[in-house]
Amino acid sequence: MTERIDGHTILIGLMAYPIRHSMSPTMHNNAFAKLGLNYVYLAFDVTNDKLPDAINAIRTLDMRGSNVSMPNKQKVIPLLDKLDPAAEMIGAVNTIVNDNGVLTGYTTDGTGFMQALKDENLNIIGEKMTLAGAGGAGTAIAVQAALDGVKEISIFNAKDSIWENAKRNVEMINEKTDCKATLHDIDDKEDFRKEIADSIIYCDSTGVGMKPLEDLTLVEDPTWFRPDMIVFDTVYAPRTTKLMTVAKQAGVKHVFNGLGMMLEQGAQAFKLWTGEDMPVEYIHDLLFS
Ligand code: NAD
Repeated sequence: MTERIDGHTILIGLMAYPIRHSMSPTMHNNAFAKLGLNYVYLAFDVTNDKLPDAINAIRTLDMRGSNVSMPNKQKVIPLLDKLDPAAEMIGAVNTIVNDNGVLTGYTTDGTGFMQALKDENLNIIGEKMTLAGAGGAGTAIAVQAALDGVKEISIFNAKDSIWENAKRNVEMINEKTDCKATLHDIDDKEDFRKEIADSIIYCDSTGVGMKPLEDLTLVEDPTWFRPDMIVFDTVYAPRTTKLMTVAKQAGVKHVFNGLGMMLEQGAQAFKLWTGEDMPVEYIHDLLFS
């Protein structure tokens, strides 16, 4: 990499805490190297209190932009100059682009999810989705799916601290898009089963299935699934979650973990900064084979 870095190298950041475990620097730096682009991507420990100075540094140092992650995805919004419409609706930003000192916030988690399905030649536009979870990932997925033309979304959430956010998401989707969204209690198992049975896709965005909950799934009964549907878990560690195992037992053909979404959210940000397509297959093989 040192051969690539010179006086013209353009800096892109990742501002979050904790963040040193992130795969994003490896993903982006290998993609820059593969395409011969003179950029470098570095992770910075940035907590909420350091965020204003860190965001201003993007302007001061003429960085091309940055990713932001927790705990900064919402807090960054008032520090930016403009927001992409999806980021405005979702109320979160994961990508900042600096155009001559004007900082625009985007969110690529939702577009990453939709692109991951497109990569598999799967179409959910005009169809019905059942979605478990309405936190950061669930909100991005629901809003982007609704904006892209998914016809109906049944959102299931526990009556926990995220319930009010789930209510807000449903109201916003119904008000601002042509999609019909409804909110359901995840503890109502009969309702949950019925909505999944009517859907082309079931997506779990709760993180149940990820360590330390790797032995759990919100759907335990394979008869809830049809072989012709899509089952998508946003979790990518472990690679095969309990939910995916249940779906495979049901003979579901299209079963995915969150790896495709993770790569594509990065690829969407990469495109915003560089104008180039990330070599997604190359990066996938490099990181995960
Ligand atoms: P979050 O804390 O914002 O939201 C968590 C959601 O899960 C909420 O809706 C909450 O009510 C629900 N939930 C939590 N525990 C539950 C339980 N025991 N039963 C039922 N519901 C439960 O988290 P987030 O940022 O939205 O992340 C959620 C998951 O999505 C994580 O596993 C994360 O790794 C994954 N994720 C993946 C990608 C990707 O690119 N693949 C991107 C973002 C997030």
